[in-house]
Amino acid sequence: MSAKFLSFLTLLLLLALPAHASPLAQSDTPPFILPFADPPSPSTWLLGQTYGNTTGAYVNRINFYQAGQGLHFGMDFSAPCGTPIVAVGDGVVTYVDNLGFGSAPHNLMIDHPNGYASFYGHLLETPNLQAGQAVQQGQTIALSGDPDETCTSRPHLHLEIRNAAAYNLAYNPAPLIHADWDSLALIGSFGTGFSRDLSNPRQWQFLADQPDVQFWGPMLNDYANPWPPEWTR
Ligand SMILES: [Zn+2]
Repeated sequence: MSAKFLSFLTLLLLLALPAHASPLAQSDTPPFILPFADPPSPSTWLLGQTYGNTTGAYVNRINFYQAGQGLHFGMDFSAPCGTPIVAVGDGVVTYVDNLGFGSAPHNLMIDHPNGYASFYGHLLETPNLQAGQAVQQGQTIALSGDPDETCTSRPHLHLEIRNAAAYNLAYNPAPLIHADWDSLALIGSFGTGFSRDLSNPRQWQFLADQPDVQFWGPMLNDYANPWPPEWTR
């Protein structure tokens, strides 16, 4: 048997094995809410990086994400420093600023009665909570920060959903949080994509169809209805 065929057999065997069982089946209603009280927008928060085998995780698989089998084992939400973070579900605080979990400079772990735990990383300051304290779904529990502690380089919330108490498994938060993930992914992050004129949305959306510039000619992109909306950093 060729090595290729053997590895194919190994793949079939792995596919036949049961995956880690989640505390809840994925067909159930998502038990959690988004970690923000405000709706998404360029001045509040946007989806920054999803959970899983992202390009960012692949590039950093042997440094930042080695403990997580090379995957981005949480979900990032781009948000200006100081954006209020809410508890995704009712629960009890288990750890405040335990940097063994990573996501400096400040973080928070909450255990939920359904067997999951939620973890909030790169917080602006030590949350004003104690281990053992009960929190309610939607309660403001922390303020978002920046891992570089500048609030200008890459401010975001890193959110993980793990198994409560043991914390040795990380789950994809998307199926566990009630949200319009398709729209959030379509809107995208605070990245550097092309600005869109919503009255002519297909104009200049590709690398090769950007217009030439005539110096001191009239403004090309002074349109009234841009996406993302106009905002200043
Ligand atoms: Zn992250």
